[in-house]
Amino acid sequence: RDSQEQRLIALHEEAQELYHHILMNTQSGEAALDYLLARGLTKDILETFKIGFAPKERVILQQIFKNRNVSDDDLSQSGLMIQTDSGKWLDRFYQRIMFPIRNQRGKVIGFSGRILADETFDDSGLPKYLNSPETKLFNKRVVLFNFDKARGDIRKKNEVILFEGFMDVISAWKSGVQNGVASMGTSLTKEQIAALERTTDNAVICYDGDSAGIEATVRAIELLSQQSEMQLTVVRLPNQMDPDDYRVKYGEDALKQFIRNNRDTVFVFKKEYLMRGKNMSLEADRLEYIDQLLLELAEIPSIVEQDMYATQIAEEFDLSKDTILLELQKKKRAKF
Ligand code: ATP
Ligand code: MN
Ligand code: MN
Ligand code: MN
Repeated sequence: RDSQEQRLIALHEEAQELYHHILMNTQSGEAALDYLLARGLTKDILETFKIGFAPKERVILQQIFKNRNVSDDDLSQSGLMIQTDSGKWLDRFYQRIMFPIRNQRGKVIGFSGRILADETFDDSGLPKYLNSPETKLFNKRVVLFNFDKARGDIRKKNEVILFEGFMDVISAWKSGVQNGVASMGTSLTKEQIAALERTTDNAVICYDGDSAGIEATVRAIELLSQQSEMQLTVVRLPNQMDPDDYRVKYGEDALKQFIRNNRDTVFVFKKEYLMRGKNMSLEADRLEYIDQLLLELAEIPSIVEQDMYATQIAEEFDLSKDTILLELQKKKRAKF
């Protein structure tokens, strides 16, 4: 007899097939397919990620699973269905483009659904993305989107690229960047960081270029540097764009080149980040900035790198390098 876990995986695999079939081959998936193709995805890539569509009627899974006599307990534990007060079962996901989420062994354990707005459907008040709830199978803290497919390339390149969104991972994959993963719309957890660190020595943060993405980058740097020994770099996209926007605007090759050739060290990223909101012609702002920079500098493990940036800061603010180094020593001592 199958364990409940195996049965729930089977339900997810079945749901994936069904949603995918609806998107690729049916009238009710046509608007979603047009939308995805208009965003520059191909049938090939929809096939690779087994992207699908859940129609608005909320009865697709219900019909299939009821015919197969799936138990109420399995239906409920799957997170794919919701039971109303009157006892009626409804599909949880409807009018959404469905992204299957796989565990490290490549088995579907959950979904994230992106709302599809069109003239027949008012999406106001509904969240853009809806994830599966936490279930026996699906633990948001542990799962990383695309980790199953990306692991080979992460090992080969000894590097993982961290994106914010599923569309960015998919967009990058299509552009030849196949070592990308994304967390489930939340900050990185210690479980995810540990899994990455077991696979690679280098992490590249490539989040959205808008202010939410920049703040998320700061948070990711903090978590990754506190909880792992991985070397970190940051790719910052221009003009508020996310990686998918960049590909749509400039093309696949441009996205690939940009990710390859625009890596900042954490310190260079912080140097620009800490500048925000400050007026460098004011002495107080300048002093605060230098103080914050030296705090960041004190975090860098490499003495050579510290010395290099100390020279830069001294020149930039017309201070003696000895002063910078003295202050740096003070900050380093204060850390202990
Ligand atoms: P698109 O390009 O289709 O608009 P995106 O990937 O650019 O999608 P963002 O709004 O930048 O979407 O969000 C990035 C990620 O954050 C998403 O992939 C998703 O994982 C998560 N996310 C966004 N909105 C929500 C939400 N309302 N609920 C849960 N997670 C969300
Ligand atoms: Mn965003
Ligand atoms: Mn985005
Ligand atoms: Mn986007």
